Amino acid sequence: MNDSDNADRTAYLVGAGLASLAAAVYLLKDGNLKPENITIFECRSRAGGSLGIFGDVETGFVYPGGRVFEEQYRCALDLLSQIPSSRDPGTSIKQEIMEFNARYGWHNNARLVDMNRNVVDTSRLDLEIAHYLSLAKLLLSPERWLNGKRIGEVVDTSFFKTNFWFIWSSIMAFRPNHSAIEMRRYLLRYLHLLPELSTMTFILRTRVNQQQAIVDPLVALTQSGPEQSQHARRDAERTAERADMDRYFRFSAF
Ligand SMILES: Cc1cc2nc3c(=O)[nH]c(=O)nc-3n(C[C@H](O)[C@H](O)[C@H](O)COP(=O)(O)OP(=O)(O)OC[C@H]3O[C@@H](n4cnc5c(N)ncnc54)[C@H](O)[C@@H]3O)c2cc1C
Repeated sequence: MNDSDNADRTAYLVGAGLASLAAAVYLLKDGNLKPENITIFECRSRAGGSLGIFGDVETGFVYPGGRVFEEQYRCALDLLSQIPSSRDPGTSIKQEIMEFNARYGWHNNARLVDMNRNVVDTSRLDLEIAHYLSLAKLLLSPERWLNGKRIGEVVDTSFFKTNFWFIWSSIMAFRPNHSAIEMRRYLLRYLHLLPELSTMTFILRTRVNQQQAIVDPLVALTQSGPEQSQHARRDAERTAERADMDRYFRFSAF
């Protein structure tokens, strides 16, 4: 596609979570869509979705914790390398994250605490050869072999008493009755981090919470849409009617 192919194209994205915000940036930068032709519908009062913070000073805020980012989040970091940080517009969000973590690296000194409030030595993950074999078998099994199986069906019950499981399940929110396929996908995705699982030194933190550090600068790229083309506005309104737009607000014009 060249620029002229896309000059009149419009894009409508449902939900102002990170996926739509990222899509809008790439539609603009790589797809050469006109900013005024990109619209994101969101049914909540604030963008950010699962990454965001909700609430206000009157009723309190809900902040579901920081999302784990690490250096192999290549697509996310590529996106963030193109967005100016809200603190210093001359710096990208990625640069800000990298500089912050180089200075204040993450290092857990006490990842687990036992029933007697003693810090557990997690330098060993407590995995035995049988556990490694089960994990290897899980990793090497195609998903169709695992269909419908739970984690508890592919490992021995002793696995759930290991430091590995306590650390892993408390980071990734797994339980023994969760899907073996999902466990396999997460293991494949995060295998390279296992040596640092106890200290979690791989974590890249943002300087402030992720709503302000990531979502707000992305949203700041949006403008209200008075200069939207007639065509885009008519289309958006038609889509809006179908989508019960009373509850929606619209970002437009990146
Ligand atoms: C508690 C928690 C911890 C997590 N921890 C991590 C982690 O450590 N590392 C990691 O990589 N990921 C983590 N994730 C996952 C990560 O946050 C999400 O994968 C990511 O933010 C999803 O982005 P998204 O845009 O796909 O969807 P969402 O962020 O879910 O955005 C969807 C948006 O669509 C809106 N919406 C839905 N339906 C409609 C509709 N019909 N009309 C209009 N708007 C609609 C929603 O309000 C929402 O704003 C975590 C998620 C949660 C909840």
